[in-house]
Amino acid sequence: MKPLFSKILIANRGEIACRVIETAHKLGIATVAVYSEADANAMHVNLSDEAVRIGPAPVGESYLKADRIIQAALDTGAEAIHPGYGFLSENPNFVEAVQAAGLIFIGPSADAIRAMGLKDAAKNLMVEAGVPVVPGYQGENQDTAFLARKADEIGYPVLIKARAGGGGKGMRKVDAPADFAEALQSAIREGESSFGDGHVLIEKYVTSPRHIEVQVFGDGAGNVVHLFERDCSLQRRHQKVIEEAPAPGMSQEVRSAVTAAAVAAAKAIGYQGAGTVEFIADGSDGLRADGFWFMEMNTRLQVEHPVTEAITGLDLVDWQLRVAAGQDIPVTQDQITISGHAFEARLYAEDPANGFLPSTGKLHHLQFDPNARNDTGVRSGDEISPWYDPMIAKVIVHGTTREEALEKLSKSLKRTHVAGTVTNAAFLDALVRHEGFESGAFDTGLIDRDIEKLVAVVPVDELAVAFACFAALQIDFGAERVGWSLWGGARRTIRLLHEDEVLERTIVFEDGGKVRVIGGSKEVMLFDVQTVGTTLQARTGQYNEAVSADAVCADLTGQTLVSIRFRGRVVDFICPDPLADSGINSDQGKLVTAPMTGVVIALDVEAGAAVKAGQRLGVMEAMKMETAIVAPIDGVVETVNCHVGETVEGGVALVTFREDAIKEDAA
Ligand code: ADP
Repeated sequence: MKPLFSKILIANRGEIACRVIETAHKLGIATVAVYSEADANAMHVNLSDEAVRIGPAPVGESYLKADRIIQAALDTGAEAIHPGYGFLSENPNFVEAVQAAGLIFIGPSADAIRAMGLKDAAKNLMVEAGVPVVPGYQGENQDTAFLARKADEIGYPVLIKARAGGGGKGMRKVDAPADFAEALQSAIREGESSFGDGHVLIEKYVTSPRHIEVQVFGDGAGNVVHLFERDCSLQRRHQKVIEEAPAPGMSQEVRSAVTAAAVAAAKAIGYQGAGTVEFIADGSDGLRADGFWFMEMNTRLQVEHPVTEAITGLDLVDWQLRVAAGQDIPVTQDQITISGHAFEARLYAEDPANGFLPSTGKLHHLQFDPNARNDTGVRSGDEISPWYDPMIAKVIVHGTTREEALEKLSKSLKRTHVAGTVTNAAFLDALVRHEGFESGAFDTGLIDRDIEKLVAVVPVDELAVAFACFAALQIDFGAERVGWSLWGGARRTIRLLHEDEVLERTIVFEDGGKVRVIGGSKEVMLFDVQTVGTTLQARTGQYNEAVSADAVCADLTGQTLVSIRFRGRVVDFICPDPLADSGINSDQGKLVTAPMTGVVIALDVEAGAAVKAGQRLGVMEAMKMETAIVAPIDGVVETVNCHVGETVEGGVALVTFREDAIKEDAA
């Protein structure tokens, strides 16, 4: 058997670089990472044995700089380069440059990549190999009138695709002939601007489409095996969101047909290494052996390869390293079997409620479910920078049945706690609980059809707010406390900022460990609030139910981030200066103090006014945030010590109450 490499370079970053490093180290192979200036302290740099800086943050000046990467491999004595996915992984010129430098490219040949590089040429090649392709036109003629006639022949709806397209770009669905010319122009424009190639093909648009792809693997001895299929039909804008293996509703007959077609596709181009053959299937009436067609082949490791690993128990990176070193695939086709069901959810720093806008920022806290496989390239304290893909992690679960695996995915998503940046976790969980997805009878249009429902913002649970208030109090008083009952009779008002909204709650500590949290949409009553590590525990007054929340705090400049994970949902709050008095004199409630230094912008009361607990007395503005000053209790205002427009210091008394008029609100 040919020996494995002793050292390889990984021309990538993030989770996939970490993933490759992990298997390399398992095999005793030393690793060299490359990194941009923005990634100097990144996880992949930390995990590797050596690391070479290749340039500034922009990918065009770092991760796409083929010559610098090859030089780094030569300088460090690496024998081979693993490209990961994205970046240079499907660039045949890079493969040739690597080989010209006397190094080994861990992946297919430049010729195989070229053969599959353009969608039109790949389709024509597949027709020759006897692989079913989507009916359509993939020829040279690009005349608008000619293409429109072809679209008529194919029959609407049709899909226009830029032949060089990828990642869902340069693709336009057209429903009627009248819209064809305009859609064509826009597909061409996008093809030119994104890929420098405006050449298009026209395809029949498959209705109720399902995305079924087959993992294949080839070696230098001409062996090609498949590792069954993955279903990646859960997509948004043609981008995969949750993937699974095997495909739900896949019969043995259809599986044999689709895997045989994939192996034929790989053999037709003498494929070596890991690859994926993507098919589109007509899912309108279940999966049929004559109802799937070749779309394209990805000549690299896919993002979603872990679901295949989960059901086969194999390590695809291990195979990649062996095959690139000249070894044969370690098993035969009949030794590869499916066990159970697996899902992968892509956890992103993005805001579903805001058009899935990518988000950046520091991950103040990062906690995954230890029962899941979590492939990530970031740790607590790392940044999601604006330079690269905002993926935080891939959450991968495996169960004996689809139902069990889905249940595990839901649990794992709920146990994941990312603090400091908005994420798509709630959206992923809404998808997991979607009836259509649960039933397994879904197509690529599921997300689009129900997008409103899936991204709907659920109001923050009052219990989560209550727990955030306790966490904020904890910052005030420090963690060394024996239970919360110490403050019998005290009350504190806490102000928190949640997505531009100021939340104000008064916590009233009563006898017998009872705590009331007032000021929200409904009053919360808790008993025996306790802190155990980063967990806050209590019983609710209503049902005497035990409730708990994960609470983590992080210092921001001049304020504190309080992140609560409660009932599987993460909510971040900003707590204005934790050292400032929280507003109300806790002992008697005789005066209201300024919660922070700021300007009084409104006053609603004068001396002598009778006020009710919770009534607004005035408004202050500080840190670009308006804060209502409210009466802590029923009483009569004795003095008002400020005027509108005045800048007051945090902690000074703004309003005092007459003592004899004070009586506790019994509500
Ligand atoms: P890209 O290379 O941009 O990812 P693909 O050809 O792989 O483009 O297609 C991406 C997605 O677009 C597929 O997963 C599928 O959801 C959809 N799609 C592609 N071709 C068709 C088709 N002929 N009919 C319906 N949907 C299609």
